Amino acid sequence: MRLVLVGPPGAGKGTQAEFIAAHLAVPKISTGDIFRANVSQGTPLGVEAKRYMDAGQLVPDEVTINMVRDRLAEPDASDGFLLDGFPRTVPQASALDKLLADLGTALDIVMELVVDDDEVIRRLSGRRTCRGCGKIWHVEFDPTSKPDICDRCGSELFQRDDDKAETIANRLVEYADKTAPLIDFYGAQGKLVGIDATGPVEDVTVRAIDALRSYGG
Ligand code: AMP
Repeated sequence: MRLVLVGPPGAGKGTQAEFIAAHLAVPKISTGDIFRANVSQGTPLGVEAKRYMDAGQLVPDEVTINMVRDRLAEPDASDGFLLDGFPRTVPQASALDKLLADLGTALDIVMELVVDDDEVIRRLSGRRTCRGCGKIWHVEFDPTSKPDICDRCGSELFQRDDDKAETIANRLVEYADKTAPLIDFYGAQGKLVGIDATGPVEDVTVRAIDALRSYGG
């Protein structure tokens, strides 16, 4: 199955993507993760992407599309994939359709995780990441026993630059301007399935998997 997850930052795409990809036995491809890996390795792509990421802006389409084209050409993606965080603009979505058409295939479903802005702000502004093991905590929903120290590995926690208040506001504006139009784009193709992404993580996963079942996933 070839699936795209869309939703505002903080909708839980990364978390749900893990579960859904495991359920479908397809690779999870997250453009945010690929950019972050490039940033931490200091590659030319990472250096370019970081400027945009730290400002809460989208990396230019051309850079992002080329990166996804290369990733989808890898053998593990030939029978299916779950895209998390891509496409995020209508030009990216059109490029993806074309890329898949060239490979003789197409997307099956686009799943939208639906949450409102207030909830997004609460979720993102409380998120803390461990410097040691990378585990993500939340000051309100999943707190550590000692403030800012990881319960799993004892390292210090930090707030991702793009989870800071001013950057969150930019990310929400970027979402409304550039990504929300995808809802109509895929709605018009009859591929859009919306699910309520509020409440416990496990409940959202059950809703997502139930929705996929009706599409044979
Ligand atoms: P994420 O972890 O998906 O929220 O992505 C983190 C950041 O990476 C975003 O705020 C963007 O700066 C960049 N990014 C990730 N995916 C894309 C994309 N499809 N198009 C442009 N920028 C992206």
